[in-house]
Amino acid sequence: KAFVMDGDKSDFEEEIALEKSRVKRSVLEALQEERKKLPIYSFRDELLQAVHDHPVLVIVGETGSGKTTQIPQYLHEAGYTKHGRMIACTQPRRVAAISVASRVSQEMGVKLGHEVGYSIRFEDCTSKKTILKYMTDGMLLREFLVQPQLESYSVVMVDEAHERTLSTDILFGLVKDLAPARPDLKVLISSATLDAEKFSNYFDLAPIFKIPGRRYPVEIHFTKAPEANYLDAAIVTTLQIHATQPPGDILVFLTGQEEIETVEEILKHRMRGFGTKIADLIICPIYANLPTELQAKIFEPTPEGARKVVLATNIAETSLTIDGIKYVIDPGFCKMKCYNPRTGMESLLVSPISKAAAKQRAGRSGRTSYGKCFRLYTAYSFLNDLEDNTAPEIQRTNLGNVVLTLSCLGIENEKLFQFEFMDPPPVEAITKAVELLYAQNALNVGGKLTKVGRRMAEFPLDPMLSKMIVASEKYKCSDEVISIAAMLSVGNSIFYRPKDKQVHADNARMNFHTGNGGDHIAHLNVYNSWKESNYSTRWCYENYIQVRSMKRARDIRNQLAGLLERVEIELTSNSNDLDAIKKSIISGFFPHSARMQKNGSYRMVKNLQTVYVHPSSGLTKVLPRLVLYNELVLTTKEYMRQVTEIKPEWLLEIAPHFYNPKHFEELSSKKTQWM
Ligand code: ADP
Ligand code: MG
Repeated sequence: KAFVMDGDKSDFEEEIALEKSRVKRSVLEALQEERKKLPIYSFRDELLQAVHDHPVLVIVGETGSGKTTQIPQYLHEAGYTKHGRMIACTQPRRVAAISVASRVSQEMGVKLGHEVGYSIRFEDCTSKKTILKYMTDGMLLREFLVQPQLESYSVVMVDEAHERTLSTDILFGLVKDLAPARPDLKVLISSATLDAEKFSNYFDLAPIFKIPGRRYPVEIHFTKAPEANYLDAAIVTTLQIHATQPPGDILVFLTGQEEIETVEEILKHRMRGFGTKIADLIICPIYANLPTELQAKIFEPTPEGARKVVLATNIAETSLTIDGIKYVIDPGFCKMKCYNPRTGMESLLVSPISKAAAKQRAGRSGRTSYGKCFRLYTAYSFLNDLEDNTAPEIQRTNLGNVVLTLSCLGIENEKLFQFEFMDPPPVEAITKAVELLYAQNALNVGGKLTKVGRRMAEFPLDPMLSKMIVASEKYKCSDEVISIAAMLSVGNSIFYRPKDKQVHADNARMNFHTGNGGDHIAHLNVYNSWKESNYSTRWCYENYIQVRSMKRARDIRNQLAGLLERVEIELTSNSNDLDAIKKSIISGFFPHSARMQKNGSYRMVKNLQTVYVHPSSGLTKVLPRLVLYNELVLTTKEYMRQVTEIKPEWLLEIAPHFYNPKHFEELSSKKTQWM
């Protein structure tokens, strides 16, 4: 009998296997049909000819025309991947790199990570088989450190060039420089906007290939009066559209994860209030830290009778195209990095978008039929308050990482100032970066890379974090310091604080602050306790810790441990010596020091700016006299996030080029308080 059953089973399994392959084939066929409907398809041969004829080609096409997903496939079909050579396609955002790679792997009917893969910081989903490699622009930049001539690539496509991220701008200079040495390399610069002349001029008048897009008219609505609270306005508008407008999905542009989660929560609550009186509203968030498995949800077709609302950051402006969007809600803001080269202060700031971005956002509603865009600001504000374009990131960021990377490539000293930037950064910004790297011992007096600098460059981190890690060798606490670095790299999603359990969550959080005077050490305590619980999920729930973030931290930590080995720093633990750990942190972050003022605010020791302890810090109750912070965020005030108590003598000992005793006179006159 058992024999018969076995036979049945294998028949059955065979049947399932057959059915599976039939489904797979029909899905593939359907995807191939879809590919042919994209605007770019009718230009396939012309495009391949142009690539064949020119070493550098600028490609312009509306978002959604098929540039990112199709061009690498066309090139592969045309033989550019022979002999295992790769086609690189860069994306400014890691979510876009993952999402597009996953789509292309489906279209090609291969497993993600095999022929089609992606590479983002701390996550390499490629293999020996990989020929189409979607990667963040930052990762291609790092590739130059390993193979300065990019030998394993036949084509480099710098996609979303209009975004002008820092890494993209540096890539422009490097690939331009590379051209004479690599006559066989094809460089494609692709962009969604029409100011392609600028790219063409920069690349010695490279030809421009235009892909005409399909576009339907978009009706634009402005508010009559300025909105006091754009989140409220966005929620009300979403519900109004849902209740009164014909079918079609909604896309709302918000500035970050926190806003998206708030809006999601309120929308869910309001929808519950309506009960069955109103059609289903499917809420899909999308932002950089959203776990990969949840990201695919935004692309799932909306069921009949329901409506989808996508709550997105800037990522949906050009990088991702979601079919079916008919209504766009644009509050007019995005999060932007701002840097003051004079003070060396960098912070993230919610800022008004540009007119160009507003137009791009509106356009997302008119892709498949006519659309509507609701701008939550006045027409007057659009005309008078918004800039035409956003300044490229290179002009509003700290250049520490760029200078370190370029130095590794032999672009040092005066060569840094001669580097051919498309839009040069302020000279002070370069000088400031060089000075800081010098104070960190990464560059010597002659501006040349030191051993410390070379080791720092191995880490895909901001130089402050890399220096902290490299310095941990001296203080014999590399084990602890890479845990802290990993936790800081995960971002601000470690602690979970549900609205109805805030008190519990805050108490749980304070348990990790055991008189050690700082958020950095608290992060270490969280990591170590989780490790002691044997990486338990239950432990995370009990302590209001996000298990996903912890897993990511563990992953990053493992990679940092691997990199330690590469730079030959031993993994040593010194967990009882918190001073040693703090000194390692100071070795990287010494410019971020601030002293308390009488009113409870802080003042940066070097440049005298006023700053505050972020309410999320464990240090809000007992304020130490001197602190060091990880980063600044500007909301209503300039806030320090992740704050740790330090001592003035440590700063003098570790950063003598940066501080002198005068900076601390006031503090040391009250020295007893420090002992
Ligand atoms: P472009 O780069 O020109 O903006 P894309 O190549 O990104 O255009 O997009 C082409 C089409 O592929 C769009 O219709 C888009 O909806 C679809 N697409 C892209 N990524 C995905 C995905 N992850 N899932 C489903 N569809 C996708
Ligand atoms: Mg694209």
